[in-house]
Amino acid sequence: MRKLTILGATGSIGASTFKVIEANPSAYSIVALAAGSNHQKMLELCLKWQPKYAVMADEAAALKLEQSVKQHNLSIKVFAGVEGLVEVSTLPEIDTVMAAIVGAAGLVPTLAAVKAGKRILLANKEALVMSGQVFIDAVRQSGAELLPVDSEHNAIFQCLTADMQTRMGHCDLTKSGVSQILLTGSGGPFRYSDIESLQHVTPEQAIAHPNWSMGPKISVDSATMMNKGLEYIEAKWLFNASREQLKVIIHPQSVIHSMVQYNDGSVLAQMGEPDMATPIACAMAYPERVPAGVAPLDFTKVGELTFLEPDYNRYPCLKLAIDACYEGQHATTALNAANEVAVDAFLKQQLKFTDIARLNERVLNKACSMDRLSSSYDLESLIELDRMARTIAIESLREL
Ligand code: NDP
Repeated sequence: MRKLTILGATGSIGASTFKVIEANPSAYSIVALAAGSNHQKMLELCLKWQPKYAVMADEAAALKLEQSVKQHNLSIKVFAGVEGLVEVSTLPEIDTVMAAIVGAAGLVPTLAAVKAGKRILLANKEALVMSGQVFIDAVRQSGAELLPVDSEHNAIFQCLTADMQTRMGHCDLTKSGVSQILLTGSGGPFRYSDIESLQHVTPEQAIAHPNWSMGPKISVDSATMMNKGLEYIEAKWLFNASREQLKVIIHPQSVIHSMVQYNDGSVLAQMGEPDMATPIACAMAYPERVPAGVAPLDFTKVGELTFLEPDYNRYPCLKLAIDACYEGQHATTALNAANEVAVDAFLKQQLKFTDIARLNERVLNKACSMDRLSSSYDLESLIELDRMARTIAIESLREL
């Protein structure tokens, strides 16, 4: 039986993780649950799953949860803050951590779990985007098992050989005969909209993804295709891929979740219903297969599958992320931070949809000119860089 900590338990990935556990109750035991501030939802989860530990990153929410836990006579230890998140990510009694906190807030606990040598089910792409080589080096040093949960990366993972699957972060694609990784994306809800009309997009329209049901931040990122940009950076690190080996393709139906092309001309694709329970089950049970509670794909109902090149005029954030990927760690850390500020401001109706890319570009340009000389990072300097980029982003918000 695998013993789990779920970081981001109250979110969309958290919900899909519980769905997989419900389908395989004897295979998994939940030791700890963690989230940000939604203590009411956490209480519901505690009542249902009775973990040993529960963490709220927000101190006030942790206090409220602690009171409710007492009122319900639950014997659950409640922790608070980043220290609490790290504590439950490194417990000796757990072997697996679902890393599904949204954004940069996931980095510290996820990296702590890596250093503790756990099996890491990585949904929190921002952690890898923000820390790149630092993260991958920590995986190698600790012997942690890194398994991608992001549907595209999980699809690519499934299309690789077993040898490559055990070398996340340092596999040799060329030696293994891989010529290209084809990262597919739906193009989001505005792929056919008039580009001029995008400035009037509302948060409600942006989070209504045509194919996937996800949290608000990743939904907006999907609409701008920053999500695909972050995934591009994530893929570079996970699969040790060069620029020539990574390509983004728009595939509106989201039936193929990504592909790997080999040098003999073969292309392997992973397909399925757009349901995160599939990649989560794949990572949780690896190398075995378990039911995920997902309907099988019915090819007679799939219809036409189409593919097109991304248009950078429609998706400037995608271009920014790809450029940042080859600019260096300072660029991807700063871009990720800027984008979190921009998306938050857009969701609060303080920024136009089309200004997300403008804000990101401004911060990226400033950060690149300020930090061009740094070549190596540690966790502290990455966190400092993230903080600096957020400050520039907040200042730039006022100027837009
Ligand atoms: P949600 O917004 O649905 O959930 C976010 C989770 O993170 C919640 O549990 C939230 O807690 C928690 N959280 C937020 N801030 C903090 C913090 N400061 N400290 C601790 N916990 C925090 O997001 P998703 O589930 O959609 O996404 C989670 C991650 O998975 C993201 O990185 C996303 O890119 C990635 N991902 C998601 C996919 C999806 O289909 N949803 C697909 C592939 C990747 P609270 O509720 O208390 O705020």
